[in-house]
Amino acid sequence: MGGDKVARITSKSHYEISIDPTVCDGYGYCVELLPANLTFDDWGFPIVKTRVVEAEELEMANHVVQLCPRSAFKLSKVKG
Ligand code: SF4
Repeated sequence: MGGDKVARITSKSHYEISIDPTVCDGYGYCVELLPANLTFDDWGFPIVKTRVVEAEELEMANHVVQLCPRSAFKLSKVKG
């Protein structure tokens, strides 16, 4: 993992999850690894139930970004 690609929480920012449904294959690594943020829909595809990533989940969220086989799972820095 490249150091500059690792998301970090600061007092002036937080991180939010999004999933691109047009490329997600629905296997569900992300839901298994981030159950506080994600759940499955009726067809087995992930849906975001809590967009904001808590500090203690950020390392795992970064891990999911690396693991997602379709690059559908995104972690975005939000200021403020
Ligand atoms: S790991 Fe990626 S491709 Fe797999 S279900 Fe999650 S978002 Fe979709």
